[in-house]
Amino acid sequence: MSFDDGLTTAERFHRIIAHSGPISIAHFMGESNARYYDSRDPFGSAGDFITAPEISQMFGELIGLWLADIWIRAGRTEPVHYVELGPGRGTLAKDALKAMARYGLEPAVHLVEGSQELRDIQQANVPRARWHNDLSSVPFDGPLLLVANEFLDALPVRQLVKTAHGWREVMVASDGETFSLVAGEQPMEGAVPEARRQAEEGTVLETSPGAAATVFETAGRLTEQGGAALFIDYGHSEPRTGSTLQAIRAHEKVDPFAMPGEADLTAHVDFHQLAQIAQSRDAKWLGTTTQGRFLSALGIDARAKALGDYAPQHAEALQAAKERLVGPDQMGDLFKVMALTDPAWPDGAGF
Ligand code: SAH
Repeated sequence: MSFDDGLTTAERFHRIIAHSGPISIAHFMGESNARYYDSRDPFGSAGDFITAPEISQMFGELIGLWLADIWIRAGRTEPVHYVELGPGRGTLAKDALKAMARYGLEPAVHLVEGSQELRDIQQANVPRARWHNDLSSVPFDGPLLLVANEFLDALPVRQLVKTAHGWREVMVASDGETFSLVAGEQPMEGAVPEARRQAEEGTVLETSPGAAATVFETAGRLTEQGGAALFIDYGHSEPRTGSTLQAIRAHEKVDPFAMPGEADLTAHVDFHQLAQIAQSRDAKWLGTTTQGRFLSALGIDARAKALGDYAPQHAEALQAAKERLVGPDQMGDLFKVMALTDPAWPDGAGF
């Protein structure tokens, strides 16, 4: 995407809206995040937010072990492709590949990344990787071992609201200075599932067409060429209503409409719907569990202890990192892990 017009994202949105009327939330979020990720390295204590692989190497290692275990039990098919969607700095890939190699798993590496700035950082961490704009160019000749951590939540959502005049899309309007939300003019009943049309006035339904398409395509590829996928994100496993759009800047929640392009816009992932989509493509849904239960089942306690025994000066920090990843009041309950496989593949650990 080109941003060489010298305008900030906010200025560009104000102009577009002045010219052709309110824009959808999906338009606002998509363009805002494209600019956001292409202009910085947002991760870590100096950045805007911190993700599980940046908290501890244990996260990537245990994911690598999960993938190696299921690949071995599925018969060690080669060639095999490690695919990561939205790999950030490449830290998860680096840690997972190291753990896999200990079990004789050395897959080709494919990183699906939109940001050139982040591709450069990933290159330093995973020199043997190849990059893709989306899944379509990832090879078809062997099973996929696919991971997406905090990728789906960054994809643009669409919101529909029940008004006195029926269902409408939530749109972003501008007075030239600030943004506000308005109901669109087009009737949108057709986009609302029949069972939900009767909701009371003010109800908001949020969907992520990009997340749905990603899981639809992944499920199809798993069924066709074999493999397994882990989608890890904050979200809910039961159907819900309401807006979950939020923005994070410098580790604080900020108004999602205050600084487009300068804050990370995310929405909670609807794992209930994604599991249904995967199954509609004949992939096997192993389940959706919490990050805390998943990492505990894979042995994070033993791993933290082993690393701490090896380097006692880090033992305390390792325990703190483990608690951050699995603690129910920290990331442990809010973050979910959904696993999918080819129906012919064995079940994975922890589900
Ligand atoms: N998985 C990493 C980073 C999560 S942040 C971690 O856990 O640390 C979201 C990542 O998805 C970033 O790498 C961002 O550049 C990428 N991304 C967001 N939207 C994208 C899109 N539409 N296509 C490709 N990559 C995208």
